[in-house]
Amino acid sequence: MEIFKEFTFEAAHRLPHVPEGHKCGRLHGHSFMVAIHIAGEVDPHTGWIRDFSELKSIFKPIYDRLDHNYLNDIPGLENPTSEVMARWIWSELKPLLPELCQVTIRETCTSGCIYRGD
Ligand SMILES: [Zn+2]
Repeated sequence: MEIFKEFTFEAAHRLPHVPEGHKCGRLHGHSFMVAIHIAGEVDPHTGWIRDFSELKSIFKPIYDRLDHNYLNDIPGLENPTSEVMARWIWSELKPLLPELCQVTIRETCTSGCIYRGD
């Protein structure tokens, strides 16, 4: 069984390694969506894998580092593509949430990335 919780945050970034003239090289912002997935057994008494509010509170310190910030300034996010962001969130979150099984990032309504660990 797997559950997930979605979060949205606003942040600015630019991609330093795109070819000259590429629109993503310019400073711009997105309304990002992140989904945190965890896998586990359903507790027969509570009827859930984990309280959604626990997912929220565990992710909160990471979320606060991203929301309304310039992503390129965050160590590890100097080239903040969706792929790099998904892997960064995974590495920050996995030690706090061992049941983590997937991180989804959406940077627009039609573009995103799914990461399930190495
Ligand atoms: Zn962008």
